[in-house]
Amino acid sequence: MSAVWHPFFQHGTEPAPPRALSSEGAFVHTDRGPLLDAISSWWVVTHGHNQPEIVEAIRRTAGHLDQVIFAGLTHEPAEELAEALVDLAPAGLEHVFFSDSGSTAVEVALKMALGYWRHEGDGRHRIAVIEDSYHGDTIGTMSVGERGVFNAAYDPLMFAVDRLPFPTGDGAATLAAFEALAAGGQMAALILEPLVLGAGGMRMYGPEVLAGLRAICDRYDVLLIADEVMTGWGRTGRLWACDHAGVAPDILCTSKGLTGGVVPLAATLASARIFEAHRSTDRRRTFFHSSSYTANPIACAAALAQVRLWQSTPMQARLEALTAMQAARLAALAGDDRFAAPRQCGTIAAIDLVVPEGGYLAEVGPRMRAHSMQEGVLLRPLGNTVYVLPPYGVTEADLDLAWGAIASFQV
Ligand SMILES: *Cc1c(COP(=O)(O)O)cnc(C)c1O
Repeated sequence: MSAVWHPFFQHGTEPAPPRALSSEGAFVHTDRGPLLDAISSWWVVTHGHNQPEIVEAIRRTAGHLDQVIFAGLTHEPAEELAEALVDLAPAGLEHVFFSDSGSTAVEVALKMALGYWRHEGDGRHRIAVIEDSYHGDTIGTMSVGERGVFNAAYDPLMFAVDRLPFPTGDGAATLAAFEALAAGGQMAALILEPLVLGAGGMRMYGPEVLAGLRAICDRYDVLLIADEVMTGWGRTGRLWACDHAGVAPDILCTSKGLTGGVVPLAATLASARIFEAHRSTDRRRTFFHSSSYTANPIACAAALAQVRLWQSTPMQARLEALTAMQAARLAALAGDDRFAAPRQCGTIAAIDLVVPEGGYLAEVGPRMRAHSMQEGVLLRPLGNTVYVLPPYGVTEADLDLAWGAIASFQV
């Protein structure tokens, strides 16, 4: 047996996984043959595997600058990347704090929000969240995420939050619940995944709900934290999901696609108000947070190359073309009674398999995964929800292969 303990992998039931040998474009080549990466390797690969500009930036940087401490030193890849992120981000996000994963980006955001209110001399400390959300697997991010089979054992370690119902229809119930909570006081921040709850089952809600939540935040001076770790870098058809609603959060988290999915890096962007509450002659107001590898120069260079692709190639047109390609294939399954609840937000398309027993541990999930693997497609259903979230370089034929694997499944 291998010494490796795999993530989200039941070693008691699952067969030994294929071995990845190389990756290129939309494909991972394994010792059992090629696999179309229809889930962008857990939502990280944006343009494609082994994107030449990104690989070249890594090579170039590694040749002369590797990890250096970022507390009290700075370097060009981080400076240029921060500037580019501020340029591309929703208005008002002017400061960039680096870390190394989506979870750490969210932890940083929560600490910034609580730090902000403490330094303002305000005792606000409550955090509002949307039910079924996912923000990571550390104790803090699990606390603001949905509770369930994944984290029941750690419940004694988690802090309390205020939960809003998932927005359905025009989101009126969610908005009313948030308004009542905010009016009750002590509300420091609302954290949400804008427009698409990823791990929660690719559940979607409209931009008008997001705009409504922003308006309530404004009215009661609650900070809005947008966790764009999954939705960022074009997944929803715009650079940021927040762009659909014309909403600017007070804090924005990005990771996954930030480096194009090539190496780990994360950033938490904050407004001037939050930065200024920490900037002081009083050293106790320092933002006391760092990871060892904060702003790793090689990762920053990779991210900068990824960001330059947004500035130098017609990405918006590519997103629109992919959105249309996905829509056509989703529509082809309409009326097929093995499937229900087709939904799409930009390049993300999802559908539910009709089974008697849903939920994350639905037995249909591993069966669908095994079936698609046979067909040469990497899919990873969330319970009975199957989705295609491809790298932007996929071809029509690639998508036919992915959706063909779904259509040929015996539910
Ligand atoms: C994946 C994800 C995270 C956690 O990111 P990691 O890099 O896995 O720690 C946080 N928030 C959202 C919305 C995610 O999809």
